[in-house]
Amino acid sequence: MILLEGKKVSEEILAELKLRREKIADKIKLAIILVGDNEASEIYIKNKVKKCHKLDIDVDVYRLSVETKEEEVIDLIEKLNKDKEVTGILLQSPVPDNIDIIKCFNCIDYRKDIDGFSCISVGNLYLGQEKLVSCTPKGIIRLLDYYNIDLEGKNVCLINRSNIVGKPLFHLLLQRGATVTVCHSKTKNLSEHTKNADIVISAVGKPNFITSDMVKDGVIVIDVGISRVDGHVVGDVDFSNVSLKASYITPVPGGVGPMTVAMIMENILIAKEANK
Ligand code: NAP
Repeated sequence: MILLEGKKVSEEILAELKLRREKIADKIKLAIILVGDNEASEIYIKNKVKKCHKLDIDVDVYRLSVETKEEEVIDLIEKLNKDKEVTGILLQSPVPDNIDIIKCFNCIDYRKDIDGFSCISVGNLYLGQEKLVSCTPKGIIRLLDYYNIDLEGKNVCLINRSNIVGKPLFHLLLQRGATVTVCHSKTKNLSEHTKNADIVISAVGKPNFITSDMVKDGVIVIDVGISRVDGHVVGDVDFSNVSLKASYITPVPGGVGPMTVAMIMENILIAKEANK
């Protein structure tokens, strides 16, 4: 079994991005918008800010109160769209229920849409044009590429249909010639799909959701899920047993998570290079 070491791979990518950044003389600035208090969001933002500073990217974090109205978020996005000093904009999810996050994502200028969630970015992906692509799906593909795992003709069972993981990842996999089965909470007999898969990608958020009886020998397993159990971060996969059958598997932590952050950094540079 080979561990798909996202942490190690992401460090190599970040080192390459540092060199790429040094070739850009201009200032680069990321604007992050956080609405309401969310402990997990604060941790993610802290991590992104740290990585940005390592690449000499300035960051402005806009912390808006939980009472903020949707129009106020949109006004801020429009102000940042117009600001020539701002290279990229991230709206941190989740947002409070009174805010339509899809509407807000669609207000972000597609040239500054680092998360790739606006309808123009999603449309580009649908058409096979990979510009600013959603970072977790992109990070998963980059990790598979690093280990020379060819997707062409592979049966992939993807368990997730969300806008941020499953749907964009489906398009990236399809574009690379994989045969993709997208499963979700309404899927019947999930095990039949996972057992038939050369690659299982699970993004459910339930510990021990994927057990060894659900996968075939030699399977490649990508664990996207994040849950906290007794203060520890765990994925969806019963790692100790599934890893005995797998040919490749991601650890949690240290698998998909660091790849996501590296892809955010890459997207900021792509945005800057495209819009100089
Ligand atoms: P989400 O919107 O809640 O999606 C969860 C998906 O799991 C949904 O498609 C849901 O189906 C499906 N699901 C739930 N119960 C199921 C069941 N019993 N059988 C089959 N499918 C089931 O969450 P998300 O935002 O996509 O994130 C998913 C997980 O990935 C979370 O743990 C999140 O923390 C993690 N994540 C990690 C990273 C990273 O960088 N490592 C990035 C993003 C997300 P329905 O659509 O039918 O409800």
